[in-house]
Amino acid sequence: MQINAKTIENLLQETEKPSKEVIQSVLDKAAKKENLSMKEIAILLNIDSNEELEQLFEIARAIKQEIYGNRLVIFAPLYVSNYCVNSCTYCGYKRDNDFPRKRLTREEIQRETQILEKNGHKRIALEAGEDPVNCPIEYILDAIDAVYTTKTEKDAIRRINVNIAATTVENYKRLKDAEIGTYILFQETYHQPSYEATHPKSLKGDYNYHLSAFDRAMEAGIDDVGGGVLFGLGPWKFEVLAMMMHNAHLEKEYGVGFHTVSVPRLKKAEGMSLDEFPHIIDDFTFMKIVAILRLALPFVGLILSTRESEEMRQRLIHHGVSQISAGSCTDVGGYTLKEQGVELVQFETADHRDPLVILKSLVDDEIIPSYCTACYRSGRTGDRFMRLAKSGQIGNICTPNALMTLTEYILDYGDDEIQRKGFALIEKEIEKIENEKVRALTQENVQRIRKGERDLYL
Ligand code: SAM
Repeated sequence: MQINAKTIENLLQETEKPSKEVIQSVLDKAAKKENLSMKEIAILLNIDSNEELEQLFEIARAIKQEIYGNRLVIFAPLYVSNYCVNSCTYCGYKRDNDFPRKRLTREEIQRETQILEKNGHKRIALEAGEDPVNCPIEYILDAIDAVYTTKTEKDAIRRINVNIAATTVENYKRLKDAEIGTYILFQETYHQPSYEATHPKSLKGDYNYHLSAFDRAMEAGIDDVGGGVLFGLGPWKFEVLAMMMHNAHLEKEYGVGFHTVSVPRLKKAEGMSLDEFPHIIDDFTFMKIVAILRLALPFVGLILSTRESEEMRQRLIHHGVSQISAGSCTDVGGYTLKEQGVELVQFETADHRDPLVILKSLVDDEIIPSYCTACYRSGRTGDRFMRLAKSGQIGNICTPNALMTLTEYILDYGDDEIQRKGFALIEKEIEKIENEKVRALTQENVQRIRKGERDLYL
């Protein structure tokens, strides 16, 4: 895998001031969900008239609605170790930051998992700093096992996505055998000079090794990979085009590109100041990036974390985001500490609402929070998932599954208010299911769940 910087820079230069006609033709193509070329994406990146941007946002909204309906997948991160040998200039875990390092024991992981389950979570992203001695792959595998085997009286975590440092084919095979969901790795920045400046003298400092991590993961049989850029480290237009190049490479070599793309934005952390970073982006540019990603990758899940404020998250859900985290703690053992009134962080988060509060506000906006993990558990991963998404069948499978998991959530973790509003939304959404058989089956399954059954899915 290589990023051809010259090609990207030339494309951005060539398309610097696109005419109205050229922009319109790209927007029309995007509205039909046709594949956009790198040049066409560069044209979108170079739009700056408000009128055309409004059109861009409107198309992103329509694509989101058509492919995902009003569903939004919910997850939470679980930080297990903050030992780190790297010196990423932006990260609170960097080795030069002097604080007592922690690695959760199996019992502590079980306690954290129970708290996550008590908040209704079924899907987590397991996170750790990079330290081959204090946090080797065996530790990560044991942590995964500890999470999957922790059962509460209500349920268990059903899918663990893993966000750990780039590693070897051998280690990816072991993660695959441990039944992880998506392997997530942010490139941080595709812009090599920015990458090298922000990852000095460290294991993670090898740009090419980091960039080729998904090739090794695919070689090991992991076919759901989640990419991302930490926006603020490098020039944003370059980042978006480079991410498209990465996706095209994976599609060409392995028949499937990113399963998800995350859009973290740089936040204040211990030992750094945002003033040191020349590529910070404002809210409007961020909205534009999310909308362009939705047009460029219509079938790829777009993930937004609690780094963003409630207001920003609400806006971006309509501009293309399909997955959000809720009630997140970005500290090792953070959920247990929060229950005890203490909060430490890897970086600052902005949406501090509890999951139930977030869910109520989504239901008020007629958005269906989804805890569904069915595709991965039914083997619909990699290109099998993409074929389903592209055939337009997501609506007939994912919406019913979202409604079933929302029913579970309401019954097991909800209060009177969400019971009232949530069941009204569920009834309304069932009526909208076009396929008669699927509608009847969903109705029947929701009733079975209300009578006490759990974990039903299509
Ligand atoms: N150690 C793994 C790696 O090297 O990829 C996992 C990294 S960390 C637990 C998860 C992510 O947090 C990083 O990939 C980075 O993008 C993000 N992060 C670190 N510092 C941040 C900051 N100041 N603001 C926002 N996100 C940050």
